[in-house]
Amino acid sequence: MIFNDATWITEELSIFGDATRKFFQAEMVPHVEKYRAQKQVDRELWEKAGEYGILGASIPEEYGGSGGDFSHDSVIFAELGYTGDMSFGLYVHNIAAHYLLAFGTEAQKQRWLPRLATGELIGGIAMTEPGTGSDLKAVRTTALLKGDDYVVNGSKIFISNGQVGNFFILVVKTDSSQGAKGISLLGLETDGLEGFRRGQNLDKIGLAGQDTSELFFDDMHVPTANLLGDVEGQGFSQLMNQLAWERLMLGIIAVGASQRAIEDTVAYTSERKAFGKSVIEFQNSRFKLAECKAKLELLRAYVEKSIGKIIKNELAPDEASIAKLMGSEIQGEIIDECVQLHGGYGYMREYLIARMYTDARVQRIYGGTSEIMKELIARNLT
Ligand SMILES: Cc1cc2nc3c(=O)[nH]c(=O)nc-3n(C[C@H](O)[C@H](O)[C@H](O)COP(=O)(O)OP(=O)(O)OC[C@H]3O[C@@H](n4cnc5c(N)ncnc54)[C@H](O)[C@@H]3O)c2cc1C
Repeated sequence: MIFNDATWITEELSIFGDATRKFFQAEMVPHVEKYRAQKQVDRELWEKAGEYGILGASIPEEYGGSGGDFSHDSVIFAELGYTGDMSFGLYVHNIAAHYLLAFGTEAQKQRWLPRLATGELIGGIAMTEPGTGSDLKAVRTTALLKGDDYVVNGSKIFISNGQVGNFFILVVKTDSSQGAKGISLLGLETDGLEGFRRGQNLDKIGLAGQDTSELFFDDMHVPTANLLGDVEGQGFSQLMNQLAWERLMLGIIAVGASQRAIEDTVAYTSERKAFGKSVIEFQNSRFKLAECKAKLELLRAYVEKSIGKIIKNELAPDEASIAKLMGSEIQGEIIDECVQLHGGYGYMREYLIARMYTDARVQRIYGGTSEIMKELIARNLT
């Protein structure tokens, strides 16, 4: 278990964490090479995760979920990070569900949450556009009211689950004359939807087994019943509210991944011989691994505390930004050291640590860049 000492850990969560690790080891890890070759996971993995209860862990039972909370999600994402492989776009799926939980109308929750819990719907978040990422207020995809529909025109880029997803929380401008106040969120079911088109599966330096795509909307009709929360112009504040969970989640994944990197590197350097002894016997190796462990434990303590707060709905946005900033930066530093300690083998894709290295790089970019995290933290200083 990644969070054994957390104040919020219960026996039930501990058992759930062990079972989740076994699920990923049995159902995901053996197929990672295949996912990497085809640049996306199989639909079967989504269905199995649905059956197992991973997709709907924090969705209330009345909407088809298991009735857990953020603590269950936290255990899942720590274990996902610990696999060392980020092919499974579970995190954006989970975030889409949390938007519905937080802001969906009763009808929207009943319509979409049970299908997200089973994997019939695979979720994603479509915010970023070719012309704007960090500056969300500047999105240009428009949704103009026509009868009972919004007519949507524009495009999105870098959308995780962009090939396999069939339900997106879509960020649009319902009033282009306004900045943040003109933004709204739409629930977008894409199966058979006219005017919806996917671009190619984008070629990335990491996350080889995960699909990331452009999405295009050409006079795409979306019923007004799909407006999240049934209220226009609230999109920006809805985004700001939910970004806290997304950012903490990335910090949680960083804890799991960093722990895995250290464990694998201790094992490798114990086996590998140079100058007649194990690499781990060199003082430099032991000191570097000691530094990695110390950084991990500081990060873990902060993330554990933050999870305790989000369970009680008390996590402030700047605290979530700290978890994301320091999680992604520390993950990058630890994995970089671990690659070094693997020598040339650390540069070979055949080795998990090499793949973790390229996967880790995006943690500082998506979900808000490190620079944007610093802006958000700095705003609260004065
Ligand atoms: C693999 C991958 C998956 C992704 N998945 C999704 C997804 O599912 N959904 C989605 O909507 N988006 C997704 N993204 C997009 C991601 O969130 C954006 O790339 C990110 O927010 C940065 O936006 P940008 O690329 O437009 O960079 P820009 O905003 O153009 O930033 C360029 C540089 O300028 C810096 N910068 C910008 N503003 C400031 C400022 N005010 N102060 C200081 N520095 C600043 C940035 O930090 C960065 O270093 C994904 C991206 C990748 C690579």
